[in-house]
Amino acid sequence: MKITDKLAARQTFSFEIFPPKGDLPLEKAYEVASALAQDKPDWVSVTYSAGGSGNSENTVPIAASLERDLGVTALAHLTCLGSTKADVDAYVAQLHESGIQNVLALRGDRRPGREAKDFSHASDLITYLRVQDPDLCIGAACYPEGHVESPDVEESYHSLYLKQEAGADYLVTQLFFDNEDFYRFREQCLRHRVKLPIVAGIMPFTSVKQIQRMAFTCGASIPAKVVKRLVHAGDDPADQARAGIEYACEQLEDLAANGVDGLHIYSMNKPAIAHAAYEVLAGCGYLAR
Ligand code: FAD
Repeated sequence: MKITDKLAARQTFSFEIFPPKGDLPLEKAYEVASALAQDKPDWVSVTYSAGGSGNSENTVPIAASLERDLGVTALAHLTCLGSTKADVDAYVAQLHESGIQNVLALRGDRRPGREAKDFSHASDLITYLRVQDPDLCIGAACYPEGHVESPDVEESYHSLYLKQEAGADYLVTQLFFDNEDFYRFREQCLRHRVKLPIVAGIMPFTSVKQIQRMAFTCGASIPAKVVKRLVHAGDDPADQARAGIEYACEQLEDLAANGVDGLHIYSMNKPAIAHAAYEVLAGCGYLAR
């Protein structure tokens, strides 16, 4: 089923899987998928990693298994930096063969050795996909605090407008730790004529190290209230992880109360984290359909 149809029908909730890295067997991802399916998410997205960890070939098999074996709608990610039109054609053919209707069209991070070939920006990929398959349901990324490379916030909104005009159907946000950033962003999108549904992405932090890494890689700011939680949690990894889940659940509850199009949990292949988020959303009535 298309994600646009789900977004039109109700407020959604969804999870994410990343394909196993290195030599880890694909079966690990199938186990995670099966555990996530228990909570009946509207969809599970499957990330794509071009180059880097070299596991992009597993995105479609995992997405196909979600649809075929678990009856869960899958959202297959695709990055385009370093790809040719022929690479994208081959990926779309794989999606068709597997009955996958949903793709998240991304540029991918810049890395040494990954130069643009046929696509420079996500909007180029969206334009191409829209022509190749007008029926594909296409999502795109957005950034409540602006993309790390954007010289100013205005440019950031303009690039979202370009994605909308290219044919994107909805947006999913980068993680953020302060809901006020999201509410401001949502308002500004409308002012900049970006009218697509926006799914808010929340990532429970699991440790001090991990949140520091995220802040550097995706430019998410860490508010003082999060730092205080971590200081209070001390050095024990279990206490830090617990603080992260508690904080994310509070964020989700607040977002649910303030009317969102959808909530996406960056569940990081940890079904327990996904389930904690599910419980809080069920508890606050968000999942009553
Ligand atoms: P773009 O929309 O191309 O934007 C990148 C930068 O270029 C921005 O600064 C933008 O303002 C600017 N820009 C855009 N269009 C133009 C234009 N026409 N002219 C000039 N400047 C322009 N990465 C992965 O590798 N695999 C994944 O599976 C993955 N999943 C993600 C899921 C979500 C929900 C999000 C938010 C991010 C994900 N990423 C993933 C990370 C993403 O690839 C990076 O954030 C990347 O740096 C930008 O991707 P984009 O699609 O937003 O690019």
